[in-house]
Amino acid sequence: MNVVDPIAAEATKLFESVYGGRPEGLWAAPGRVNVIGEHTDYNEGFVLPMAIDRYTVVAAAKRTDGRLRVVSSAGDQRVIEVALDDLTPGFPQGWTEYPAGVAWALRGAGILQEGFTGADLAFVSTVPVGAGLSSSAALECSTGLALAGLAGAEAQLSTADLARLSQYAENNYANVPCGPLDQLASAFGEDGRVLFIDTRSFEIAPHPFDLAAAGLTLMVFDTKVSHDHGESGYPARRASCEKAAAVLGVRALRDLTAADLERAERELDEVTARRVRHVVTEDERVEQFVSLLTEGPLEGERLRAAGDLMTASHASLRDDFEVSCEELDVVVEAALAAGAHGARMTGGGFGGSAIALVDVGDAERVAESVLAALPQAEIFRAIPARGAHRVA
Ligand code: ADP
Ligand code: MG
Repeated sequence: MNVVDPIAAEATKLFESVYGGRPEGLWAAPGRVNVIGEHTDYNEGFVLPMAIDRYTVVAAAKRTDGRLRVVSSAGDQRVIEVALDDLTPGFPQGWTEYPAGVAWALRGAGILQEGFTGADLAFVSTVPVGAGLSSSAALECSTGLALAGLAGAEAQLSTADLARLSQYAENNYANVPCGPLDQLASAFGEDGRVLFIDTRSFEIAPHPFDLAAAGLTLMVFDTKVSHDHGESGYPARRASCEKAAAVLGVRALRDLTAADLERAERELDEVTARRVRHVVTEDERVEQFVSLLTEGPLEGERLRAAGDLMTASHASLRDDFEVSCEELDVVVEAALAAGAHGARMTGGGFGGSAIALVDVGDAERVAESVLAALPQAEIFRAIPARGAHRVA
């Protein structure tokens, strides 16, 4: 059975019990793991995410009274209701900002027009919420597809627009200044592939990432922690990157290379120069990782080099960008000590999840080592999965 089917069955059940009647359709969007390329997306640089086999599914039906109702199995299962005409950034507050924001963005873009008079949405998800695996993007992208589907406007909503409008909603309605990485990964994910994305041009090059064929597995370790300073940490990093780009006279840090780092050190304060060094070296690591994937299967020297790039990415995020935390560092160290080829935090940091590239035969030992170091960690294996799509 397909991993989406049982979630879709749950979403249908939730819809029926809350709203009565049958949903008109079901839409799914996945979470993601970023293999490498962290904090580069808002610097117009490179990222290498894959959608994972964890999905948010929404069961949905149209309404005729101009109202939007939402319920999620993840929350307190309270139905929240708002008139489409009352949608305004930040309202209604809480998790509803994400689906309401998408409805608002689709209306603003003219994809939902006058004839669209409301909807009932019921969400069920297997994406861990707030774990750095993009449950927010899964929520947005599933909402976007569902609303366009109900309105008969699928053809007007390209996959790139789904990602763009979802990011727009998160930035401008939920007031989270994220880059486009999460939404692009959730929208464009492909079975068995990682996505090499240029976040300036939105050019996307999928690369085969058949880990099982190479005897490998990608392990995810949810640390279950989210440190408060993350709230201000992310916007502060972003602001610091934008300031550095302005001082150095480039449109975005993506326009710098290693040759510019000396000048960055001269012209910026010590901390900001380290932030720049992370972004510049991280972009290079993504390109190197993609070169390795292009050369052939991940084995031997190539596998060693790919693992080293992931681990170097973690060190850079920890030391230069300072967005890791003790729990993430402990998990990465434990995975490496037990034989992982490479390990790193994934997502924005300050808590959330880490990943490791591991020989299938070592997975159990790595899991034991991680649990010994951080007993609360939740561990699973992720495979590259299909992006947002209509289920039924
Ligand atoms: P991440 O995207 O890494 O999981 P975020 O902080 O960006 O973490 O998004 C998490 C927030 O998204 C939650 O606090 C909640 O408001 C909302 N959210 C995500 N998925 C769901 C869901 N299935 N049901 C309700 N709210 C959700
Ligand atoms: Mg998110």
